Amino acid sequence: MKSSVISGQISNYNNISSYNDFKDDNKNYILIVEDNNINKAILSKILSVYYNVVSAENGKVALQILRSGNFSFSAIMLDLIMPVMDGFTFLHEISLFDEFKSIPIIVTTGNDDRENEKKALELGAWDFVSKPYDAQIILFRLKNAIDRSQLTAFSRLKYLAEFDSLTGICNKEHFLYEVSKLVKSEKPGSFIFVRFDIYRFQLINAFFGIHEGDLLLKYIATFLSDFVKSFTSSICGRMNADVFAFCIPFSDESAVVDMVKHIKKMLKAYPLNFDIVPTFGIYLISDLSVQPDIMLDRAALAAKSIKGNYMVNYAFYNDKMRQEITTEQEITNEMNKALEDHQFTVYFQPKYDLKTRIPCGAEALVRWIHPVKGCVSPGTFIPVFERNGFVTKLDYYVWESVCIAIRKWLDCGKLVHPVSVNVSRVNLYNKDLIRQLCELTDKYNVPKELINLEITESAYTESPEILQQMTEKLKNCGFVIMMDDFGSGYSSLNILKDIDVDVLKIDMRFLSDTHRQQRSENIISSVVGMAKSLGISTIAEGVERKEQADFLASIGCDCVQGFYFARPMPIEQYEPYAEDVAL
Ligand code: C2E
Ligand code: MG
Ligand code: MG
Repeated sequence: MKSSVISGQISNYNNISSYNDFKDDNKNYILIVEDNNINKAILSKILSVYYNVVSAENGKVALQILRSGNFSFSAIMLDLIMPVMDGFTFLHEISLFDEFKSIPIIVTTGNDDRENEKKALELGAWDFVSKPYDAQIILFRLKNAIDRSQLTAFSRLKYLAEFDSLTGICNKEHFLYEVSKLVKSEKPGSFIFVRFDIYRFQLINAFFGIHEGDLLLKYIATFLSDFVKSFTSSICGRMNADVFAFCIPFSDESAVVDMVKHIKKMLKAYPLNFDIVPTFGIYLISDLSVQPDIMLDRAALAAKSIKGNYMVNYAFYNDKMRQEITTEQEITNEMNKALEDHQFTVYFQPKYDLKTRIPCGAEALVRWIHPVKGCVSPGTFIPVFERNGFVTKLDYYVWESVCIAIRKWLDCGKLVHPVSVNVSRVNLYNKDLIRQLCELTDKYNVPKELINLEITESAYTESPEILQQMTEKLKNCGFVIMMDDFGSGYSSLNILKDIDVDVLKIDMRFLSDTHRQQRSENIISSVVGMAKSLGISTIAEGVERKEQADFLASIGCDCVQGFYFARPMPIEQYEPYAEDVAL
């Protein structure tokens, strides 16, 4: 017996030998498990013409070789009676490993070993060859077994490639392929592509555990398959997580309403102490040249347009939604260069003391002076930057610009009013926030009380704990904290007692309903009163009319900001307001 490449590779195992003169990469590997040296030698000689052969002298060694991962075996020839670990135990042990399930095992037995054959079959053996060995029979049986195993592995792979392993319905790729086949020869507008998910599904996993979440997903898949089967042509699938999609014929919107009702009813019937609410995004397939993955994107856009809206469960896609995405993409593509090229500029909107009606500060508001589009207001790009994270860079840029401006005014000997800057909610998760702000004020030697920080009210309601800690730290550093846009969200006055802010900015724009003016006024005066009693000062923003200013003065509101007094303006225009002339 000559040494070979293979025996070298596995030399760290005892009693392993190889019968190949050369390792041939084109040949499949066979593992012979046999303690009898003569049998082993005969079998190896027969097999090594067509296969690379590795052998082990008992089941234990064979398992070691398999688990080493050094070889990918196409079949195992197994003797039953061996010392240390016999063939039966080996069959049992190997069945515990999923990765070896597809390797066919052919048992070598004595001539009339019926009982052992039965037992081995029970334990998962694929076939038998009996001793004394007949070379041709062995080679045929081995080839058949390998062919069969490859076929099984192939169909399993095909299944895994096309169906979702949890629910058994089509996976995304297969579903999209089926959709393209389904609608190919149909008239435009005769099918809808529906995508839906469960509102706050992650809470189900969090409250009831992943297993409960999985059960719900299986339930959805089952009733969805049943539901789509009621149409002559249809297909459904699971896209990912809790996202499902289906494609069914479209008649009119009332049928869609019925469909939504039906699915909601099915979800309501599910026995879980949770309000399972679906959100449907629908793309009416009016253009057959649109690829199914784009249909899915469009349906997702439609769903996004009603996200968080508890009362509306479905929305049809329209082209405006696509336009928004295009705009978002354009903004994203251009933002870094715009920052480098200083296309972002800070405007200042003066704030006025309501008693004296003279300027007492300003809010810094960013503008994008776009080379083609001109002056773009933050309402267009800040939400995009909040989604892609760029807002933290932009905020830093604005803070630095404000520090530079204040430094310049201080250097001119002015008694400077404080300037407030906006701190995006995204920045609250920025671990460097405090360090960045302190570094800037230190770098430009700007007293911290001249920089006021505006944090929007909705951030307080979204993550009260994080905010509370952050506000406390920022206040300890010496910054003045303002709660911005108070009245725009659903916050209650309660949060005022939990979060320690210095100033409340009440947004008048949310209270412009003239029919309810009296009511609005009552609310504002009680907010101002409550803030006062808590030692919080108040500023009203969005003040557009004299009557508003007079009313605010009458109830003791401290400051105002709004178009009635001054619009946001470039720095050169603001400079005359920057100085505290009253002092
Ligand atoms: P905000 O912080 O509440 O700023 C006040 C907004 O109200 C400004 O809009 C201002 O121009 C507008 N405004 C002021 N007075 C009146 C008025 O009398 N009537 C009306 N209708 N509007 C008035 P702007 O500049 O378009 O900014 C919109 C929002 O964009 C800001 O709301 C703020 O949330 C955000 N933003 C602006 N600059 C920045 C920034 O540098 N960083 C971050 N993170 N957000 C910013
Ligand atoms: Mg603000
Ligand atoms: Mg505001």
